[in-house]
Amino acid sequence: MIKKVVKPNIWDVVVIGGGPAGLMSASIAAKYGAKVLLLEKNDVMGKKLLLTGGGRCNLTNADPDVRNFVSKFGKKGDFLFSPLSIFGTDDTIRFFEKLGIKTKVEPGFRVFPESDNALDVLGVLTKLAKENGVEFKLGALVAHIKKSSPRGGASGKISSVILENGEEIKAKNFILATGGKSHPETGSTGDGFKWLKEIGHKVVDSNPSLVPIKLREAWIAELAGITLENVGVSIWVLKKETDKSEWKKVLGKKGRILFTHVGLSGPTILNMSKTVGDLLKEKKEVKIAIDFFPGVGLDIMHERMIKLYEQNPKKKIKNLIPVEVPEKIYLKILEIMGMDGEWFANEIKRAERIAIVEMLKMFKLTADSLLGYDKAIVSSGGVDLNEVDFKEFKSKLYDNLFLVGDILDFDRSSGGYSLQLCWTSGYIAGKSSAKNC
Ligand SMILES: Cc1cc2nc3c(=O)[nH]c(=O)nc-3n(C[C@H](O)[C@H](O)[C@H](O)COP(=O)(O)OP(=O)(O)OC[C@H]3O[C@@H](n4cnc5c(N)ncnc54)[C@H](O)[C@@H]3O)c2cc1C
Repeated sequence: MIKKVVKPNIWDVVVIGGGPAGLMSASIAAKYGAKVLLLEKNDVMGKKLLLTGGGRCNLTNADPDVRNFVSKFGKKGDFLFSPLSIFGTDDTIRFFEKLGIKTKVEPGFRVFPESDNALDVLGVLTKLAKENGVEFKLGALVAHIKKSSPRGGASGKISSVILENGEEIKAKNFILATGGKSHPETGSTGDGFKWLKEIGHKVVDSNPSLVPIKLREAWIAELAGITLENVGVSIWVLKKETDKSEWKKVLGKKGRILFTHVGLSGPTILNMSKTVGDLLKEKKEVKIAIDFFPGVGLDIMHERMIKLYEQNPKKKIKNLIPVEVPEKIYLKILEIMGMDGEWFANEIKRAERIAIVEMLKMFKLTADSLLGYDKAIVSSGGVDLNEVDFKEFKSKLYDNLFLVGDILDFDRSSGGYSLQLCWTSGYIAGKSSAKNC
């Protein structure tokens, strides 16, 4: 049953932004008795939520090891131990199952709705907010937030928000859920960062993060669409900038990658993109090496290839492809090495066979740049976490300002962690804001 809302002159809680963090906090604040208005500049809620997990919505991550979970938020993850003990992964799964969203766990502990449909998640969140009595104002672009600081400094309270059309909306509490800067076409254009700076908060500059990598090799387009499930990926830089022969490994991971028209994507690449971006900023030459046989040593690989060629002496090498390597990639490797796929296995010299094996263990590509905000899953940066009280997700400078979701300066991995941050911060801020009335 939808509660009838009587419009007050001063709302208990105004939430700015109708993404996952805003919807969660609005619903919870209303559940705990607050009169809540949610302002969203788009004509619909949750545009970015609908893009999540390729439209399937990776809701959270069910890694049972809390330390491991928290480490996915980088060094600042420690701030989240206590909040996650209040509303963590299990709470999220229970919360959504109670709303009728059955969930399933996929490799890497990624949790998805059984329906594989982000629209279902947005649907239940919106319905719950309405049932709890949240009033929505869509097409409401907030232009400013106004503070009522007694001495004009960076402290005190927020008094109102001003919409683009000049309308002023007053409230006892404000929850800022305007997101970061990735995929700006969804509405996340970093407006909250600008306001926070204006009222004296420290805001760490943003960069695209969890973003596909563009490669220098133009031929990579020929491999577009190929997905590899369990390959090794490592990042390399020159030991000395003056010597192009010696490289040192900076980072290594194992997992899924995807070839795109301009380079590489997929969870493993996204999770390494920050490191690559930082190295490129330092003007380093960065190589990304793919190991098609992680966990198999060079010696064993050599034995495998010797056996393969010895058992099939009269077969063309283009037809002797290890099952782990897609044909298109294998033929590209032969082409790069100047070898003809029409050659027979018994024509291959030892040095050539060794070179093939080495390429399969270390297929080196050259990073050119990170793609932009329009392709990033999240942006880095946001409000300085030292200025946030994590018991309530409240500003330490403004007693009635709550900060949730992507607006917070956490690094995060791909795998459901960003949305869990929305659920955790939204739940806690929603409840605290209702108590703060
Ligand atoms: C392609 C893609 C796939 C992703 N997949 C996943 C995934 O599977 N799992 C996962 O955990 N995370 C995923 N993410 C990240 C996740 O979507 C974000 O972490 C999450 O949406 C952040 O929620 P939020 O509520 O903080 O902000 P947002 O979702 O960005 O919502 C902010 C809202 O505020 C509104 N707004 C902004 N400025 C104003 C203003 N001035 N006035 C009024 N309203 C305003 C915007 O219109 C927007 O609706 C993905 C992101 C992308 C781009």
